[in-house]
Amino acid sequence: MALLQISEPGMSAAPHQHRLAVGIDLGTTNSLVATVKSGSAVCLPDEKGRKTLPSVVRYGSGGEIEVGADALKAQKIDPQNTVSSAKRLIGRTLADLQQASHYLPYRFGENERVIELHTRQGAKTPIEVSAEILKTLKNRAEASLGGALVGAVITVPAYFDDAQRQATKDAARLAGLNVLRLLNEPTAAAIAYGLDNASEGTFVVYDLGGGTFDVSVLQLTKGLFEVKATGGNSALGGDDFDHRLFCHLLEQNKLSQLNEQDSQLLLALTRSAKEALTTETSTAVRATLSDGKIVDTVITRQEFHNLTQHLVLKTIEPVKQALKDAGISKADVNGVIMVGGSTRMLHVQQTVGTFFGQTPLNNLNPDEVVALGAAMQADVLAGNKADGEWLLLDVTPLSLGLETYGGLAEKVIPRNSTLPTSRAQEFTTFKDGQTAMTIHVVQGERELVSDCRSLAKFTLRGIPPMAAGAARIRVTFQVDADGLLSVSAQEQSTGVQAQIEVKPSYGLDDDTITQMLKDGMSNAAEDMAARARAEAAVEAESLLGAIEAALALDSDLLSADELSAIQADTAALQSRLQNGNAEEIRAAVSALGRSTDNFAAKRMNRNIKRALAGQSVDNI
Ligand code: ADP
Ligand code: MG
Repeated sequence: MALLQISEPGMSAAPHQHRLAVGIDLGTTNSLVATVKSGSAVCLPDEKGRKTLPSVVRYGSGGEIEVGADALKAQKIDPQNTVSSAKRLIGRTLADLQQASHYLPYRFGENERVIELHTRQGAKTPIEVSAEILKTLKNRAEASLGGALVGAVITVPAYFDDAQRQATKDAARLAGLNVLRLLNEPTAAAIAYGLDNASEGTFVVYDLGGGTFDVSVLQLTKGLFEVKATGGNSALGGDDFDHRLFCHLLEQNKLSQLNEQDSQLLLALTRSAKEALTTETSTAVRATLSDGKIVDTVITRQEFHNLTQHLVLKTIEPVKQALKDAGISKADVNGVIMVGGSTRMLHVQQTVGTFFGQTPLNNLNPDEVVALGAAMQADVLAGNKADGEWLLLDVTPLSLGLETYGGLAEKVIPRNSTLPTSRAQEFTTFKDGQTAMTIHVVQGERELVSDCRSLAKFTLRGIPPMAAGAARIRVTFQVDADGLLSVSAQEQSTGVQAQIEVKPSYGLDDDTITQMLKDGMSNAAEDMAARARAEAAVEAESLLGAIEAALALDSDLLSADELSAIQADTAALQSRLQNGNAEEIRAAVSALGRSTDNFAAKRMNRNIKRALAGQSVDNI
């Protein structure tokens, strides 16, 4: 598949001209922007010399929008208008949040498709909040580099799904940024360490940030990273270490009820103390509270480690799980990369080092490493490198999938999957005794096959005749590093197999892809309706088929009235199938279901009697 982003017309760089491109780590707690200057990646500071930007946005009473440290300071006094951790909400719906364990202080809107937070400046989506952070970083970069950016590589957690990735892209677009590519955070960290220059290897990326812990297992083959497994704990991070130390201080100073101002002060001092303990062996927390009481406590590094070691140990379980999911053991790991500000803590490094039996890679700044790797990737994609060096990471520009019954497109490999990639999904037969299955491979984002691009068709024959739904046909999609797609299908019980190779990028230029993406978005509602109708129709046809078969065998069980009721409901459903919408078809299916309930019960009785006929009670 062509590297689409860099082959856009006008994008090939004149040899002497350096194109301004940045990498952005859009973090839950902190965000950063980096660029490549004279061959090496550096993070860009703001005018006060600060590199990290707290990912906090405040909607002020005068219509102003504050982003970063000032917004963070105001959070305690103005929680409903100050949004932090928008990354936890982006690309999510209210329904997704019901499962989240975190308490969130916001006033949520009723919108079911996208989360809205009510602020004094109106309803804001997490996309808009993230856009403010990205805008701030874009402005910082343009001021510092002295020109307009060609584009940005933005990092996302490896576990982000399509909706979360799309929402992140939308945020970038709102911020006026051209997204060269989204890059997985652990991959960015690995690139920053230059691991992509090695030919092969298995790496673990251990990322302990402010409020989240993520672990990923990366497999590098021929300069291409594949995420083998991810895991973590979305409610564990540096904040928990702050909290533990804070509670310790309260106990030591016999403090119970603190007012808001005092607790905020003490929490800020606690965090500074925690951070100081990575370089000092002891530190003091000193403060005068609003009632004149004096807090003066010395904490040693050893004490702090004792207080929080249980939190460090909590990260090891997900690490073990990720190794297990990737099917590897500790001994297979060629390197462990430390990412996230919290991995600065020495007991974190020691514990991880002991677990893996090797010293983790930590010579780059752990809170900068993701942004640095993204910047290096942006530099390549913007065309600042010689041609030969471009073949690093590539993605599928559109989803690949196949046609299922009712003309629906089922996505197997989602758009933007990093190559090479492979996915398998199981399908089944629709009809009793079906012995062949046609696999129709399609490409696109739309719900209906007729709106997608058809790539290839092949037939799997020799499926043993079975009842509808009993056959298990495993269809595997595989896209290699060159974008060559091969699809194979195998019936699981007999092993009969068929396969085909296709070249999916054939003839699709950027404009077509952009248009298809646009269509996919603007037609989402329409597509959902069409999909719902097609699904209802599949259900209806299967019920009609079943009833026809049952009547042929057992209609003698029915009274004349019962039979005519079933026939009337059957006719009603058939006419709904011609011209009804999804809801009408479903209603007719339910009606027919009800009128045949009794018939089904009678048939069951008859079948049981037949089965039991001639058998003695002992055999049952
Ligand atoms: P995220 O990826 O969640 O946006 P970061 O990687 O920026 O977060 O990590 C932020 C966390 O790192 C905070 O909890 C902060 O206190 C912690 N941190 C930063 N520097 C240090 C340090 N020197 N020692 C201990 N913790 C630190
Ligand atoms: Mg991070």
